Amino acid sequence: MYDFLIIGGGILGLSTAMQLIERYPDKKILLLEKERGPAQHQTGHNSGVIHAGVYYTPGSLKARFCLEGNRATREFCDRHAIPYEICGKLLVATNEQEMQRMEALWERTAANGLEREWLSAGALLEREPEIAGLGAIFVPSSGIVSYARVAEAMAEEFQRHGGQIRYEQAVSGIEERSSEVIVTTARGGEFSSRYLISCSGLMADRIVRLLGRKPGFTICPFRGEYYRLPDRLSGIVNHLIYPIPDPSMPFLGVHLTRMIDGSVTVGPNAVLALKREGYHKRDVSLADLSGMLADPGILKVLGRHLRPGLREMKNSLWRRGYLEEVRKYCPSLTLDDLEPWPAGVRAQAVSRDGRLIDDFLFVNTRRTVNVCNAPSPAATSALPIGRHILEKVSEMVQSG
Ligand SMILES: Cc1cc2nc3c(=O)[nH]c(=O)nc-3n(C[C@H](O)[C@H](O)[C@H](O)COP(=O)(O)OP(=O)(O)OC[C@H]3O[C@@H](n4cnc5c(N)ncnc54)[C@H](O)[C@@H]3O)c2cc1C
Repeated sequence: MYDFLIIGGGILGLSTAMQLIERYPDKKILLLEKERGPAQHQTGHNSGVIHAGVYYTPGSLKARFCLEGNRATREFCDRHAIPYEICGKLLVATNEQEMQRMEALWERTAANGLEREWLSAGALLEREPEIAGLGAIFVPSSGIVSYARVAEAMAEEFQRHGGQIRYEQAVSGIEERSSEVIVTTARGGEFSSRYLISCSGLMADRIVRLLGRKPGFTICPFRGEYYRLPDRLSGIVNHLIYPIPDPSMPFLGVHLTRMIDGSVTVGPNAVLALKREGYHKRDVSLADLSGMLADPGILKVLGRHLRPGLREMKNSLWRRGYLEEVRKYCPSLTLDDLEPWPAGVRAQAVSRDGRLIDDFLFVNTRRTVNVCNAPSPAATSALPIGRHILEKVSEMVQSG
């Protein structure tokens, strides 16, 4: 019998596992992951940005955890000799409407307690000669890191303290009883634990269903496709360059991201993936697709966001359209500069009434904590999210 069992070897499962074993060094803790190693899904396929916390609703979990996570991630990297760089981010306005949105964003950054600087077009040009805009907000605390490296270090810490990880163990059944939780895997494994924590990303709703609960939300997979700039353009920008987003869809808008390996990526866009873990345009799962088409919440989201959705799809299929998105603020780029780069798939929870659930979401039962919505900036926020889960679990332990 284990004391704690964690599903998911992404950054959230590993952060939770590492902090659990630090808090309860004598407890038996097991992490089950269906892939061959850690960080094979969202954690290993993202932009690698240590977010500062610009866009999030003041007072939300996202705003709080991102701010804390920005500092905690740097401290973790310092302790474990993981390379990172605090290169700062520029949010660039390219037209009058974006200048107005920039003012709203300026207020929001203040409400979220961020250090920032308002740049005129001239000041922007001085900092970034290749970037054109009417003005920009400079946020100095944004940075870059490899979250796969961070997750690996967390896995090592967890195992060093006696935690166990079993890979290639896909959880396929869960039964919550009065004094334990029984977890079965597709390979025929059976594990019993006092408490269960699920950090299963793109499968979060399915795990809640395995518990015999109605989740009240469905995970909608949005693929984020990237390009990479050729090595000769690795020095094209000094900071992370983001457009000013439409406030109703802050995750739309391709950015120029300096990566910690020295390259620069362009992206990601956001297109509906026709398979939960569908990293390629050709990936289709009839089961996943029919599930989506039968889901009233997802159908409403697709209907409500039809125009931007179609634009993202068009630009996914038509590279020139994608290029024009980035040329708005970086006009010197050409089609030849867009080299292939692997995509990621975001796990976005959609409510039954057709809302993209904005904040981080947890669903708890008597013996389980389930992370149900943890899109960006959840990698930045992994340490505070793990601590938050620990608090929930500690309450459960105390109440028996
Ligand atoms: C394109 C893209 C760009 C992003 N950019 C950023 C960024 O720059 N900064 C940032 O902070 N965040 C970013 N994010 C968000 C961030 O990557 C995620 O929020 C974070 O990685 C979520 O971690 P996770 O552990 O919840 O999920 P995951 O990393 O997806 O891990 C979930 C794990 O659960 C396992 N699992 C699922 N079901 C089962 C099962 N039945 N049995 C066993 N194991 C199971 C999966 O195999 C997987 O390994 C981005 C995401 C994407 C997709």
